[in-house]
Amino acid sequence: MADAAKGDFYAGVDLGGTKILTGVFDEKLVCLGRNKMSTKPERGAAEVIDRIARCVRDAVDECDLDMKQLRGVGIGAPGAIDAHSGRVIFAPNLAWRDIALKKILEKELGCPVSIENDGNSAMLGVYETELQAKPKHAIGIFIGTGIGGGIIIDGKIYSGFKGTAGEFGHMVIEVGGPKCNCGSRGCFEALASRTAIFRQIQTAVKDGQKTLLTEILGPDLNDLRSGDLRKAIRKGDSFVEKVIEEAAEYTGIAVANLINIFNPQTVVLGGGVIDALGDEMMAIIVETAEDYAMSGTIEGVEIVASKKGDDAGINGAAVLARRAAKEKS
Ligand SMILES: [Zn+2]
Repeated sequence: MADAAKGDFYAGVDLGGTKILTGVFDEKLVCLGRNKMSTKPERGAAEVIDRIARCVRDAVDECDLDMKQLRGVGIGAPGAIDAHSGRVIFAPNLAWRDIALKKILEKELGCPVSIENDGNSAMLGVYETELQAKPKHAIGIFIGTGIGGGIIIDGKIYSGFKGTAGEFGHMVIEVGGPKCNCGSRGCFEALASRTAIFRQIQTAVKDGQKTLLTEILGPDLNDLRSGDLRKAIRKGDSFVEKVIEEAAEYTGIAVANLINIFNPQTVVLGGGVIDALGDEMMAIIVETAEDYAMSGTIEGVEIVASKKGDDAGINGAAVLARRAAKEKS
């Protein structure tokens, strides 16, 4: 049970296109409790922000804490983020343009809010709480509804000129490929995100493709989850296996590009898709990266799967909140 006399608690929020995850953490970043809500972006930004506030309040209440005991809330938000002003400049997966997320939430929650791009935030979480070797240079790729990324250079998040660096999901890896939410074509995210994988499967099923998935979930595949894909593959569904193999190959190509550019010591892959399908994908990702990386750039580079799963995002967001509180005090 949390000590109600102290106030060194933080909330970390992972705002995704599908769900909002909140974790409540103590000063040592031990997670005291979690809460989850669906995002419902189709209802508009005001409603989504209201849901974030509700998700945080309920998580805090579940931990028998009071909102007054929170020193800060950190949010990993998708898309181009101006971390300094706390605005979401453009988030294609939420259909948001220029939303003053920090300002609105601070008013709603009555405590300081820090915002960072979700990929940067997840990478911060993995770096602070999982990568014990603390590599100086590391790259994180997080594959879920979308694909986010984070860059660690000299032990620090590299966020670029306007703070939008690390948008690995929008690296074009197939010229003329499928349309992406960002408006471009052939982006990594349009080829290997959960959304892209599900779309491919659903389209093929509509065209008459046979798969065990329809036996498990019915013909519409409405409640399809990444875990169902793993089940189907393990039962010998060669169609699903091929779709996942292709997604893993695209991911390997993305990893090779990033290794060529950054020559990191470690590449970490995380997010819901890797969490559910890491066993099926990692070997193909590594093999493809080795095939495509320029000779000499990949030697000794460690390519690993994060074991944090969905917790990377909330962990990193709590790191953000704690850092902001420390900078203030
Ligand atoms: Zn894109």
